[in-house]
Amino acid sequence: MGLGKTQAVVIGRRGLGESDRLVTFYSRRFGKIHGVARAARRPRSRFGSALEPFTLGDLVFFDTGRSDLLRIDHFDIVHPFSRAREDLERFAQGAWIIECVGRLTADHDRHTALYGLLVRSLRGVETSARPSRVAICFGVRCVDLLGHRPRLDACVGCGRPYPFARPHLDLDGGGLVCEGCEREASAGVPISAVAVTGLERLRSLRWEEAIRAPLGRGEAELAAVLDAQVSRLIGQPTRTPRFVREVRRLSPGGRG
Ligand SMILES: [Zn+2]
Repeated sequence: MGLGKTQAVVIGRRGLGESDRLVTFYSRRFGKIHGVARAARRPRSRFGSALEPFTLGDLVFFDTGRSDLLRIDHFDIVHPFSRAREDLERFAQGAWIIECVGRLTADHDRHTALYGLLVRSLRGVETSARPSRVAICFGVRCVDLLGHRPRLDACVGCGRPYPFARPHLDLDGGGLVCEGCEREASAGVPISAVAVTGLERLRSLRWEEAIRAPLGRGEAELAAVLDAQVSRLIGQPTRTPRFVREVRRLSPGGRG
């Protein structure tokens, strides 16, 4: 209860009542928190454009102790990550990243390393020539940090050492399964040897190297496997990929 201060990133927002805004932050000191920004949707709101998704700022809030919703007193922009909102590709990757953070974490569960990864990833989405790779590197590290690192050195069913033919990733079993054990797995997704190698590399390389490492045809597959893993962890499909497909379909020159 009382006044709180922390750096935080806007990871979600929606309208509340006539003119207020309900904002979800991922904060350095308190993890995921929700607050109400009074009159934030009025034309000359004191919050201005600060409450846009991805924005990193200094948050000052008041916790009344009577509700899960904090009262947002100030949110001063430290870095807006505005370029990440300027084109669809960057926005899509950034949106997937904040969706993962928002849906894989519990309220008030501080995780400083995840906060650092979020900020670093948004910076990458904003500046990198390959925002999709930044999202993959984020996804690999995010599931690791949250304790869901898949085992890649052996079949989690029978212990047979990898490599083996036709590997699957058992999303519930926590690692690769061989062809024989795949039938028993409740949530096995096929994964190619190229993608397994790529995943191993991304886990072992430092961030800057991982952003640049060639992955060849394993890249798109890894993005899909990570999205499947995150979807399994949250218990339903992530929303961002469907949203992006819809926007592409509706935009002029869209790719179907
Ligand atoms: Zn096996």
